[in-house]
Amino acid sequence: MTSKPDIRDLSLDELTRHMASLGEKSYRAAQIFAWIYQKGAWSFDAMKNLPVELRDRLKNNFNLSPNTIAQRIISGDKTTKFLLDLFDHEKVECVLIPTATRTTACISTQAGCKFGCKFCASGIGGWTRNLTCAEILAQVLQVKEEALKHKRPLSNIVFMGTGEPLDNFDNLFKAIRTINSQKGSGIGARHITISTVGLVPRINQLARQNLQIELAISLHGYDNESRNLLMPVNRKYPFDELIKACREYFKATKRQITFEYILIKDVTCAEKAVLSLKKAFKGIICKMNLIPYNPVSEFEHKTPSGKEMTDFRDRLEECGIHATIRTPRGRDVAAACGQLRIMHSEKKRS
Ligand code: SAH
Repeated sequence: MTSKPDIRDLSLDELTRHMASLGEKSYRAAQIFAWIYQKGAWSFDAMKNLPVELRDRLKNNFNLSPNTIAQRIISGDKTTKFLLDLFDHEKVECVLIPTATRTTACISTQAGCKFGCKFCASGIGGWTRNLTCAEILAQVLQVKEEALKHKRPLSNIVFMGTGEPLDNFDNLFKAIRTINSQKGSGIGARHITISTVGLVPRINQLARQNLQIELAISLHGYDNESRNLLMPVNRKYPFDELIKACREYFKATKRQITFEYILIKDVTCAEKAVLSLKKAFKGIICKMNLIPYNPVSEFEHKTPSGKEMTDFRDRLEECGIHATIRTPRGRDVAAACGQLRIMHSEKKRS
């Protein structure tokens, strides 16, 4: 482990102040930011428009290395999954997902997860720690580098990797400001999605900030009872309270909300689900992302047939709920949440 602070933990303002404290010109901070977030530099030596003494000083005082890649696998559909080995040997995943219209990085925010959703491999083994702002940004830079190798500039960021983004609020938002800044990665807020298990106080907090980011709610249940069975967090923030927070979020921001909804055979695709969701979504402009359950061995359920899934989608549409079935990507590389990570720890255990 390097004991040096990581330069990516500094915002542009903080780096500017640091430059001033060294007696350097303040524009040096913007130059360093451009090297890191726009030109993809992984070393201070590469920063050719900085004086050599400053480069040496930075090199002695800061870390700028990539996260160690323990495994990198490319699927037939070009989805590339990275298993990262952090300084304390915690493992997290990030994924490059190229589609016809966009090039997306799926980023982790925590090592492990506290929330224990029954169908999700990320919660197995519990939660260890929050990722730092630098660890989050390094993932973005690594996926971006991979995308550029395929001549695909990174267009979107989704915080849908390991962990619960809103449970690591401060580091997440510090990283988002750098990703979003024109002097940083320059990715528009509307191209950044935060997916949450439904932490009501954090959603309320988000509603008060004037941000253009996309909010995705992992709903998965259609009422209190069904959500209780799948997501323990529902006992703390029940279905109705969550929907109320979403309604208020929509009122305050006028931003469309995406509801993620897992399709599990005989569990979530029933007609009563359609009727309950129709009632719940009244007054919220939203869309539904239907995610076919990607089987994990710890949760013995099946994915519905193709017809069951399209029938369910069509019923939602008939009820005025815009819904699309998410194409599973990277299945051959275990790209569902936490699968690669859990496979790695199982290997270690055996
Ligand atoms: N903690 C955040 C972000 C990580 S999960 C959240 O809960 O939203 C990203 C999405 O993948 C969530 O909607 C999650 O519920 C879903 N997911 C997890 N495991 C899955 C599985 N086995 N099959 C299908 N979707 C899954």
